[in-house]
Amino acid sequence: MKVLVINCGSSSIKYQLLDPDTESVLVSGLVERIGEPRGELINKAYPGTDREAVTTLEQPIPDHDAGMRLVVDLITDPEKGVISHKGEIDAIGHRVVHGGERFSAPVVVDEDVVEYIESCIPLAPLHNPGHVAGIRVAMELFPDAPQVTVFDTAFHQTIPPHAYMYALPYELYEELRIRRYGFHGTSHKYVAGKLAECLDRPLSELNLITVHLGNGGSITAVEKGRSVDTTMGLTPLEGLVMGTRSGDVDPAICAFLARNKGMSIEEIDTMLNKESGLKGLCGMNDMRDIHAAIAEGDERAEIALGVQTYRNRKYIGAFMAVLGCVDAIVFTAGIGENDDVVRRESLKGLECLGVNIDEKANAHRAKEPMRISAVDSRVAVWVIPTNEELAIARETRDILNK
Ligand code: AMP
Repeated sequence: MKVLVINCGSSSIKYQLLDPDTESVLVSGLVERIGEPRGELINKAYPGTDREAVTTLEQPIPDHDAGMRLVVDLITDPEKGVISHKGEIDAIGHRVVHGGERFSAPVVVDEDVVEYIESCIPLAPLHNPGHVAGIRVAMELFPDAPQVTVFDTAFHQTIPPHAYMYALPYELYEELRIRRYGFHGTSHKYVAGKLAECLDRPLSELNLITVHLGNGGSITAVEKGRSVDTTMGLTPLEGLVMGTRSGDVDPAICAFLARNKGMSIEEIDTMLNKESGLKGLCGMNDMRDIHAAIAEGDERAEIALGVQTYRNRKYIGAFMAVLGCVDAIVFTAGIGENDDVVRRESLKGLECLGVNIDEKANAHRAKEPMRISAVDSRVAVWVIPTNEELAIARETRDILNK
C-alpha cells in the first residue's frame, strides 16, 4: 500500500510517500515559501538508502495548488520519479493541527469535514488555513484516492473537564469553545504505543509520561493508553518553554504590556509565539547553538537552558502527581531524542520519586528506542524516536481497512 502523507502549513507543504506495512519511504520532501517571489522545493527519492536522489527547485510557487502539482510531477517523473502515475497512490493522509471538539479519531474527508476544519480556523489561525488549502487541492488532484485527516488534537479528547477547562467565565466555553485541547497528539500516541511494544506489555496497563521536545514541545500524562492531561492548551503556546514560544506566563503580562508599552494584541501575540522561549531568553532557538554558546561562557544561554529544563521537570513532577503511579517516562523529537544534557537536567532531583537515569546509557546515541534508566530505577526512562508520518500513514490505512 502507498500512502501520501501531507502536512500543509500556511506557506509550505511537507510530504512523504510511504508504505505503512513495510515502513519503507519512497519519497519525502518540502515545498517552502509558497506565495513569495522565490519558492523552493527539495525532494528526496528513496531517502536514507543507497539510491537516495535529491532534487532541488527554485521558482515562484504562487499557491498550494501550484506546489502540489510540482510535487506530483516530480514523483511521477519518468527519470527522477518513484511511481509511474499518480493512480498508484492508494490514499492520502493529511495532518491537521486543530480538530476542535468533534474529532477524537481520524476521519475520511468529505465536504462536511473540510467545512468543520475551516470553522476551527479561529482556534488555529496559523495552521488550519494551510490544511484546508492542501485538502482541497489534494481532493482535486487525486479524485479517486480516499483522503483521511489525522488530527493533532484527537488523542487528547479523552482529557477530563477538570483538566481541560480554564477557570474563566463558563459562557466563553459555551460561546467560543475556549478550553484546553492539546497538540502533538499523533506523536504522543505513537511513542506511547511503541513503548508498550518495547516493554511487551499492553498499553492499556501502562501509565506513561511522554515528553515531546522539538522546536515546539509538550508533555502528556497517558493513563492506561489514554491522554488525561497535556501541557499545551487552546493553542500550542501554553506549557513548556519552546524554541520561540514562551509557554506558560502570567496572563496579566498581556494587559501590562498593552498599558505600559502600548503594544497591540497582534504585537503581543507575535512576541509570545515568535520572539520568546529560548530565542527570547538568549537570542538562539536551536539547542545545539545554545550548548556551543554555553561552552564559550554565554550566561544567557545557560539561563535559557536552565529555564527550559526546569519547566520540563516541573511538569514531569506535576504529571507524576496526576498519574499517581508511573511506569515510564519517554523522551522524543529533535531535542528529546538527541540531547542527553536536556534529558538529565529535566529529570534532576526526581530520584526520590523513583527516577534514576544511567549516565552512560543516557549519553548513548541511537536511532532505535533505547532505555536510559538505571536497572534499579522504579520508573523506566526511554528515548523513542517519533515518526509522525508513519503514524499518519498507519492511521490512514487502519481507518480505510475498517
Ligand atoms: P523537531 O521540531 O522535532 O524537528 O526538533 C527540532 C529541534 O531539535 C531543533 O531546533 C534543535 O533545537 C533540536 N535538535 C536537533 N538535533 C539536535 C542535537 N543533535 N542536539 C540537540 N538538539 C538538537
